[in-house]
Amino acid sequence: MNWASSIPFFALHLLCFAALWTGITAQAAVMCAGLYVVRMWFITAGYHRYFAHRSYRTNRAMQFLLAFGGGTAAQKGVLWWASHHRDHHRYSDTDRDLHSPLKGFWWSHVGWILCDKNNGWDPSSIKDFAKYPELRFLTKHDWIPPWALAVTCFLVAGWSGLVVGFLWSTVLLWHGTFTVNSLAHVMGRRRYATADTSRNSALIAFWTGGEGWHNNHHHFQASARNGFFWWEYDPTFYGLKLLSWFGVVKDLRTPPARVLAASRIRDGQFDMGMFRAHWAKASAALSAADVTRLKADDAHECEPLEERIHASRASLEAYVASSMRSAEELASLSRRRQREVTLVE
Ligand SMILES: [Zn+2]
Ligand SMILES: [Zn+2]
Repeated sequence: MNWASSIPFFALHLLCFAALWTGITAQAAVMCAGLYVVRMWFITAGYHRYFAHRSYRTNRAMQFLLAFGGGTAAQKGVLWWASHHRDHHRYSDTDRDLHSPLKGFWWSHVGWILCDKNNGWDPSSIKDFAKYPELRFLTKHDWIPPWALAVTCFLVAGWSGLVVGFLWSTVLLWHGTFTVNSLAHVMGRRRYATADTSRNSALIAFWTGGEGWHNNHHHFQASARNGFFWWEYDPTFYGLKLLSWFGVVKDLRTPPARVLAASRIRDGQFDMGMFRAHWAKASAALSAADVTRLKADDAHECEPLEERIHASRASLEAYVASSMRSAEELASLSRRRQREVTLVE
């Protein structure tokens, strides 16, 4: 983590206390609530479901508005956000997952964002949007949208508008959004046997505008709707549906019945995603334990012993990896047989 470049992030948290001097006007409180809801929608409907997953279509002006609106949430630029998110789905819960909770709560919550290593973004993972100069501009100058909003809040509602209306809602919005990374792979239930540890949580869905149905989402990422059933609260989708009636967005993708029924598991049942995660955790703990014990031992004995541990760990890992490959193949073959049987019937 780069503590120096993270100063603004921590400073904005401290500045929230300036409300002790500015006071909380009614106008600023309404602004805070409104800006939380509206900007959360821009992040979930825009940054996430449109730019990262292309779950619907829209025109270029609306595309720009989605990128700018999401940008006001101060979560870096649109291409940075969406390209990293695509990588999260590609490498969920593996070593290459940038914010896997297997690396610890704080790391998955904020640490990964404040780390220099993740400042850049890979244009090759988001070629489809990187070709638009206006999106590249907004990503390069990602300070413009939040500053524009902050100044507007000050002009409309004074110092209280800036501190309570803008700062409070921005900080709340950060931590609300971040819980999808830190908690949605830890808290809640699993409905689908995905290759990762994603879960469905009504609580997280409540403050993230429907993103808490994260296991649904990992099961069928291309969906504009994360609450798969009517009782799964998903205001991001309701907003998109409303816009589709006016023709602002179109071709909203939703999960077909076949996808809804596939790979269902009962919560807590054994599945590959959870097994893989548990295995990664167990093997990390095992190797850490060996190193500490070795340090206490006689230094002369360390070298050959350490080598032997490395070798046996590598062979165990190869063995488990090949077993998992076979298990995954078996699972996919049985799913195929199930599909074919249903078709014949
Ligand atoms: Zn995830
Ligand atoms: Zn996603």
